[in-house]
Amino acid sequence: MSNPAKSTTEILGLSKSELEDLIRSRKLPAFYGRQIYTWLYGRQCHEFSEMTDLPLALRDQLQEDCRITPLVELEFAKSTDTTEKYLFGLSDGAEIETVLIPDRKTTTACVSSQVGCALACRFCATGTLNLTRDLTAGEIVAQLLFLREKKGERAFSNIVFMGMGEPLNNYDALVKALEIITDPAGMALSKRRITVSTSGVTPKIRRLAESGLGVNLAISLHAATQSKREKIMPVAQTFALDKLISAARFYADTVGKRITFEYVLLKGFNDTREDAMALSALTRKLDCKVNLLPYNPVPGLDFDRPEKDEVNRFAATLANKGVVVTVRTSRGRDVAAACGQLAAKRQKGNS
Ligand code: SAH
Ligand code: SF4
Repeated sequence: MSNPAKSTTEILGLSKSELEDLIRSRKLPAFYGRQIYTWLYGRQCHEFSEMTDLPLALRDQLQEDCRITPLVELEFAKSTDTTEKYLFGLSDGAEIETVLIPDRKTTTACVSSQVGCALACRFCATGTLNLTRDLTAGEIVAQLLFLREKKGERAFSNIVFMGMGEPLNNYDALVKALEIITDPAGMALSKRRITVSTSGVTPKIRRLAESGLGVNLAISLHAATQSKREKIMPVAQTFALDKLISAARFYADTVGKRITFEYVLLKGFNDTREDAMALSALTRKLDCKVNLLPYNPVPGLDFDRPEKDEVNRFAATLANKGVVVTVRTSRGRDVAAACGQLAAKRQKGNS
């Protein structure tokens, strides 16, 4: 273990070049930095003493003045549908949740990007928390390292940034984490297996498009008109729907990937035939697919899930108009692990 009592440098989350600089500043060859990088992210190692290809003297030095802080598992819940939810403690006592969703051929890790969220979407449990702080790149990556350490290299095959927080409001840490996750010398996960979900932070969608990272993008649309969207998503007042749609088109054109629009179906609010027609008119001309999410009720919030028939009818209306549409099955609802249910309950003092 590193020495937490002393003032030490956290190295979890450092990029390859930052680790090389750290080593160079000690007048040692930079490739030791690359070796540490692979130990950290390729092998889930959080003990300097176990980095056996480093000189012993360097290992001792690092032990003295650096630290690697893994997440602390505070709670674990497993759904009857095999979805797993983890509550993690961070070094300052903040708490986040991570969800692991096994499916027939894939296992998806749903990671958090912030502690809470500032955007306060009216239907979302995380939105009731406010924002405590951004996660560091190290804390984002640590969620995935924890899963691999606990369940092996194949703990997950896909990653979605659909846990707590708005990933594009923590852009720099997100990009740094994505670089580590996709680097063959790091976590070595294909960019095709990674999806970033955003409530529509338009300028950052454009920036991500130009970043060269090439990950999949999901945009939380939830309403097909500006006025309706504003009613449930305060962020829509800042980033208008028409600008959001052109940013989506820009992403699809620049990255060459089909965008996913997420649409949470809220009973009696956005689930009528008229809503479906407006949604199809909005999305039909784009290279996109629409993913319908029947609402997962959140205690204290005033929305309901439509009946199955309504959901199917809505999907059929879209399909008839030529929209590529899927309906997402909710996973982990019995342990409050489903989309929009993450609230790190202990944070609110009720555990
Ligand atoms: N902040 C990002 C990512 C996290 S939320 C975003 O908003 O896109 C992941 C998805 O779950 C989003 O589409 C979000 O709108 C949706 N969601 C939130 N609360 C939900 C709920 N109670 N039921 C179903 N989906 C919900
Ligand atoms: Fe934040 Fe996304 Fe929840 Fe909206 S839906 S409050 S952006 S986490």
